[in-house]
Amino acid sequence: MRKQLRIVGVETDVLRFAPGSPYSDAIHDFGPERGGCVIRVLTDAGVTGWAYSSFGMIGGGPRVVETIIQQELKPALIGQDPTFPKRIRADLWKAVEYHGVQGVASFAIAAVDIALWDVIGKAAGMPVYKMLGAFRERMATYNMCGWYYPNDADLAHYKRSITAALEEGFRGVKIKVGRGPVDEDVRRIRVARELCGAALPIMVDANQVFNRNEALRRGRIYQEMGCFWYEEPLPPQERDGYAELARELDIRIATGENEYTCYGFLELLKRGAADVVQPDNRRAGGVTEWMEISALADAFGVAVASHGGGVTNLHMLLAMPNSIYMESGSIKGDSSALEPLRMKDGEMLAPESAGMGSELKPDWVRKYRV
Ligand SMILES: [Mg+2]
Repeated sequence: MRKQLRIVGVETDVLRFAPGSPYSDAIHDFGPERGGCVIRVLTDAGVTGWAYSSFGMIGGGPRVVETIIQQELKPALIGQDPTFPKRIRADLWKAVEYHGVQGVASFAIAAVDIALWDVIGKAAGMPVYKMLGAFRERMATYNMCGWYYPNDADLAHYKRSITAALEEGFRGVKIKVGRGPVDEDVRRIRVARELCGAALPIMVDANQVFNRNEALRRGRIYQEMGCFWYEEPLPPQERDGYAELARELDIRIATGENEYTCYGFLELLKRGAADVVQPDNRRAGGVTEWMEISALADAFGVAVASHGGGVTNLHMLLAMPNSIYMESGSIKGDSSALEPLRMKDGEMLAPESAGMGSELKPDWVRKYRV
């Protein structure tokens, strides 16, 4: 590895995909608007760091991320040594201070940080989970498959989706709850349990839809039905409500996909407001921030699981002793990644290539570039 590297360029592409088939959770309707922003950090050593910030909805999001990267972050990046991600994070926070480091700015900062770690791993010739200090070589994973689908009163589509995940080899599923009355939740959980059998974990995710009373009332039912965790019962800002639920219920309270930075997570942890924290590697702030969040959680005796999947979540999970689950969709037919994820016995295997594994196939990027 050369003694010093320099960032000499920052390239971005906005991607847009054709509308997909619609699906929903308690508050979101997905399908019509999907896209993302690709970032490439170029160095004087010829090593390029890649990252991709995806948006499952909000058609304008990727363009905003690109604008923040190009107009606000790039000037702070050019000339820096990419092997100094903590120093660079401090500079990027200054660069966006006027509008704040949370929200879409955090998506942009996270993408830069992931790309920096891709450079670091590639320059050293090692997968990033080892550079972070590896703890394990495989990570338990579950499939987010129990969505709400249109015209699915008989739950046929819902059943097909769970069955497909189990056939693919996943040994745990997450299902959405809270969009309808409690009887419907009970029916959805029963159907999932029939398909999964007694042993596999079933996580339920309410996507912020309840108030405290309803969250508690339904939480007791999910708990009684043996669900593994109860995710995002309340809006993220209601941290005292989360603390109340965590005190009142024995089922694990999982949350964090809408928290930003380690300071946001500290507010949760200080209140005892979560049993499992779920940093999202776009909102939370990137690899550097993610590692600090999970270390904080570890000190509070709290487990960590990723919000979302893919290789850019896998590296940090492999490097933390308190990580319990990676979230994933189907890993079949991913045409974008150079090194596809591999699953064995329901666990994701450690990536073998150097870097973050975040480099994308050039023809895939070309195909969807706006
Ligand atoms: Mg969720």
